[in-house]
Amino acid sequence: MSRPEPILAGRGLTKRFGGLVAVRDVDLDVQAGEIFGLIGPNGAGKSTLFRLIAGIMRPSAGEVLFAGKRISGRPTSTICRLGVVATHQIVRPFKNLSVVDNVMVGAFFGRVPRPAQQRARELALEALETCGLRDRADTAASTLNLAGQKRLEIARALATDPDVLLLDEVLAGLNPTETDRTLELVRAINVSGVTIVIVEHNLRAIRGVCSRLAVLDEGRKIAEGSPDDVLRDPKVVEAYLGSAAHA
Ligand code: ADP
Ligand code: MG
Repeated sequence: MSRPEPILAGRGLTKRFGGLVAVRDVDLDVQAGEIFGLIGPNGAGKSTLFRLIAGIMRPSAGEVLFAGKRISGRPTSTICRLGVVATHQIVRPFKNLSVVDNVMVGAFFGRVPRPAQQRARELALEALETCGLRDRADTAASTLNLAGQKRLEIARALATDPDVLLLDEVLAGLNPTETDRTLELVRAINVSGVTIVIVEHNLRAIRGVCSRLAVLDEGRKIAEGSPDDVLRDPKVVEAYLGSAAHA
């Protein structure tokens, strides 16, 4: 039986910064409906690969396909309207705006073309409900703690009504309770029909939610498969221990 066409694919993705090759010839296949984890030590190229996929940066070589069509090279706004949206590792809400107004920004850039103010607000409130922030809708974004701001960032992405949601280190800086709540949220979003690619430094944290993992080290994909297999792989153990020794 042939495998179904991946919803998101990377082919020979490479990104050079001057002499540094941050991402080197990476192939990826993400199937519709899965939670795909991208892990690796600091500096491995995770965020760069993530930016190539989300269209925030152009690859030096290779391409990104969404539902079989090339999206690399197209503006993020177009990619977002097609149904692929990213959150950022550094959360930057518009602090003077209310929580709901921040999320409406997502709705205006999303799949529903030019929604009326009222419709955008509805989409935003729905996303806030999912993210457990409905009761904070009309407070200033500046009043949210880090975990709240990360949820806000996820809500803003959700308000675009994505098929694929890309999450970059949404667990970084969270305490164990907040981490569990965020992982529950990621599962709930996935169950609602959104394919998820989650980039994470902390591999233990996401092993429970991912159907498959790919591991990057020095820009190369060194392993891919089920979380258990990947975490037992000597190359992966070595990459993490090596990076700890350098730190
Ligand atoms: P990770 O997210 O896995 O920690 P990054 O993708 O952020 O890794 O970085 C991979 C490598 O690329 C690092 O050596 C980093 O310093 C370098 N790098 C990332 N972004 C840039 C950039 N915009 N310009 C130059 N070098 C960069
Ligand atoms: Mg990173």
